[in-house]
Amino acid sequence: MLDRRVGFYISFIEKKNVQTHYLIRPQECTDKEIDTIIKIQEKIWVNHPEAKKILRPVKFMNINHVRADSEITNEYERIKSKQFISVQYEMLARYSKHEGLGSVEVGHLNQATEIFNTSPVFLKYLDLPVLGLEKLDMAKISEEHGWIGYMKMTNFCRRLRKGKPCGICGPCTDAVIAGLGWRLPLSRRIIANIQLPFRKWWRNNYDKQSSGLFKKFREFIYRKDMV
Ligand SMILES: [Zn+2]
Repeated sequence: MLDRRVGFYISFIEKKNVQTHYLIRPQECTDKEIDTIIKIQEKIWVNHPEAKKILRPVKFMNINHVRADSEITNEYERIKSKQFISVQYEMLARYSKHEGLGSVEVGHLNQATEIFNTSPVFLKYLDLPVLGLEKLDMAKISEEHGWIGYMKMTNFCRRLRKGKPCGICGPCTDAVIAGLGWRLPLSRRIIANIQLPFRKWWRNNYDKQSSGLFKKFREFIYRKDMV
């Protein structure tokens, strides 16, 4: 049952063509992510030459070249006023619509964002095949199929320090919460665990972040790109 929901990998096993997409936007980790994508793809092609026919080269698109779209952006703003939703989904939905891709598979796991997960506007453009899985489930599936080496090559940190996960950003925190702390060096794992209570408190107070001291602090950390 779990396997059938991991769209990308099952497509790979079932020999269906897979087209991956990467939206380029100005972030500290962009160069690392592009480098990682290329290295993983090359390794797959070396280990599985037959995959060259089905695993097509990644398509890259600058987010600034994706059309504005009030339907999607208004829906994003509506959801954002009620619960946290990453802007990447707004961008991906606009990209999907702009390119006429239909429903694009994205690796969204968080069941807590039910307004987004059930939004008719977003579901027109995004498919959520791994929703309901935990990161540990994905690690287990990767292990079972011999893909764990590729998983270990992936980058999740938004702000690498000397090429290693920082232990402070949201994705590093999520990795530790999900039980994948082993993916961080010990010193960064300790940092992640120390700041975990604050991170949870901050997230639990999402509804207060648009006013008062919360707002000022939020503006400060966004300016510093600390989220
Ligand atoms: Zn990090």
